[in-house]
Amino acid sequence: MMEVIFFLFVMGLVWGSFLNVVIYRTSHGKSFVGGRSVCTKCKKVIRWYHNIPLLSFLVLGGKCAYCGKKISWQYPLVELITGLMFVWWYLVGMQFFRLLGSPWQVIQPVFWLVVSIFLLIIFMTDALYGVIPFGVNLGLSLLVIFYRVALTGWGYMNPKDLWWSCVAAIVLVSFFSVLNIITRKVRGVDGIGGGDIVLSPALALLLGWPKILIGIFMAFLIGSVVAIILMIFGKKKMKSKIAFGPFLILGTITALFWGSQIWQWYMGMLQ
Ligand SMILES: [Zn+2]
Repeated sequence: MMEVIFFLFVMGLVWGSFLNVVIYRTSHGKSFVGGRSVCTKCKKVIRWYHNIPLLSFLVLGGKCAYCGKKISWQYPLVELITGLMFVWWYLVGMQFFRLLGSPWQVIQPVFWLVVSIFLLIIFMTDALYGVIPFGVNLGLSLLVIFYRVALTGWGYMNPKDLWWSCVAAIVLVSFFSVLNIITRKVRGVDGIGGGDIVLSPALALLLGWPKILIGIFMAFLIGSVVAIILMIFGKKKMKSKIAFGPFLILGTITALFWGSQIWQWYMGMLQ
């Protein structure tokens, strides 16, 4: 058991290291395959022993071995989160889906692990560089569509639920497109960017109806709280652009884990 957990954690760290490359390169319009990793500051090729997840960052004291400039906290953080995600989906995710029987008890947690990897990439690219690469969005959308259709085909998902998810996806795309036009007209900045619009149907299919409502509500709630805090501390002004993708993802995660409770609590309040 411990060996498996350790192995998965290390696997996750290695994947996290690769995700850092994907996050940087797809945000800068480069292919994420081929070519050696270079220091983003001095452009020197990073040697393999300076590129060991987590450990190298600690050994080098968070500085490049050549130019001594600081290495972003993004690198060890993404590695650590990915390592923890691998372990989490094994320990908790497998338990959650164990009643489904094989092969779904394995397919489900693996699917959600891959989804969490996509969400982590999108979170970081938007938070760091203000873009959601189209290819990443497309990959996530195709994965989610394929998964939902497969689940319905195998009888694990009600066709009616799939239909409602699709309606929710269309409504959400329209809603975001209108918001995009309004914020550009009124404030002269993209509140909801094109990347958010392309991302939204995948989130609707992931969460389904009515959980997507909670996801979007939480995204706006968390987003406005963070925006107010940033403005209080003078980091952002009213006109500044704040990436909305990270909040969409935080909202989605909140709805996935606590969506039912929040929905019941809210419906209880209305009675
Ligand atoms: Zn360097």
